[in-house]
Amino acid sequence: MSVRVRFAPSPTGYLHVGGLRTALYNYLFAKNQNGKFILRIEDTDRTRLVENSTQGLIEILNWAGIKYDEGPVVGGEYGPYVQSERLDIYNNHIKILINSGHAYYAFDTPEEIEQMRKMLQAKGLNPKYDRRTMKNQLTLSEDEVQRRVSSGEPYVVRLLVPDDHKIIFTDIIRGEVIVDSSEIDDQVLLKSDGYPTYHLANVVDDYSMKITHVIRGEEWLPSTPKHILLYQALGWELPKFAHLPLLLNKDRTKLSKRQGDVAVEDYRKKGYFKEAIVNFVALLGWNPSSDREIYDIQELIDSFKLEKVNKGGAVFDIEKLNWMNFQYLMKKDTKELAIQFKTILIDKGYPEFSNDYLEKVIKTHRERVTFLHQILDFCPYMFQKPEKFDKEYFEKYWKDYSLEILKELQIKYSKMDDFVHDNLHKVTLETASEKGLKLKDIIHPLRLVITGRSAGAGMFETMEILGKNECLTRIQHFIESYEKNKLVF
Ligand code: GLU
Repeated sequence: MSVRVRFAPSPTGYLHVGGLRTALYNYLFAKNQNGKFILRIEDTDRTRLVENSTQGLIEILNWAGIKYDEGPVVGGEYGPYVQSERLDIYNNHIKILINSGHAYYAFDTPEEIEQMRKMLQAKGLNPKYDRRTMKNQLTLSEDEVQRRVSSGEPYVVRLLVPDDHKIIFTDIIRGEVIVDSSEIDDQVLLKSDGYPTYHLANVVDDYSMKITHVIRGEEWLPSTPKHILLYQALGWELPKFAHLPLLLNKDRTKLSKRQGDVAVEDYRKKGYFKEAIVNFVALLGWNPSSDREIYDIQELIDSFKLEKVNKGGAVFDIEKLNWMNFQYLMKKDTKELAIQFKTILIDKGYPEFSNDYLEKVIKTHRERVTFLHQILDFCPYMFQKPEKFDKEYFEKYWKDYSLEILKELQIKYSKMDDFVHDNLHKVTLETASEKGLKLKDIIHPLRLVITGRSAGAGMFETMEILGKNECLTRIQHFIESYEKNKLVF
């Protein structure tokens, strides 16, 4: 039987990193097994819907490269399956369950239920729905039930959880799980607003979409016995289950907003590469080997094994993510980076630089930053003339002979045909020796003049990239400002 898996988010806001991990593991498993990956939007809880979150989810999955393989065709493309568009299917199954005696109508008001739970609690009992004393199909006459339903009285449909029944299943990651039916409440399957609950819609869809493996977060593990009861009531074969480990903060509490970002979108906005995010998220709970951390998506697909996913919680270590981003920054083709960087500059109002120029800047500066956009903070002088000069640096390295040397260099540089690193080094070193100075006695003032700052990439490399005209203009500008006492610090 060919593998079919699904990612089934509820459109209640942003995509959580844990959601991305679930989507990714489903995707990796599907691709590894030559199977299909399906996206299903579970929007039957109408009170939690957040407008536009479905579009946001699809957009961010696309960005991460997680494409789904089928769905209803919308505008020539596959759309996701959307539960609110499938209500008839759920209603049919509700009828089947009622007719076979596995589910029943219940007419209790929320206040009555609240009161019942309080009473049970007061007696020290499990506050489960007490089907024997409440107003439902099991306690009312058939006629009365019909009357209430046809008169439009609000009702829900509940699952009749069998008494004295052991629910046993094998989770691929956790092994055998046994739950006694006495621990399970008679679940609401159809709500009074006419929408099915998560449990019913999820099971009906997993079955009708021929899902072979249900791969989801550990927080859904308590729902699985309820789902199994539904599969049994409907006489359906069970899919295989795999519950992924929780994501934890560094202090091993459940990953929460309070300790950092949890929305994938936030990481994207901060400038993380999608390859770094995907690589990092893929290793939250699994690693193909013990001696490597960097894998591209194909390597992840090739080596993915559900059985190898850990049971224990996976710590979300932001430093590791930053390290990975740096690895990708170093590894990526500078042509691709230049295109991305151009957009960053344009967004910040800079003029357009050539790709060739940007590639050179990236090559010489990327090892000094973690994010591509940080290159701009690190060396703003590669994109505009320095307007201010570092005062401390000036006071430390600007000597009474510096102006004279700068003027001499200005002449020598202007005569250079090949304004490249080696020649700049040669010419500057010669000048230093003639004056009985060390190269650094010249380089520091020169760095100040050209960049305004005390730190940067190699000075001659920087000058080569900026080019002869630009360097001479900056030297001239500095000399003029200095002589007019107009240097801005
Ligand atoms: N709609 C559930 C969610 O929001 C899906 C859980 C499942 O995969 O069964 O995560």
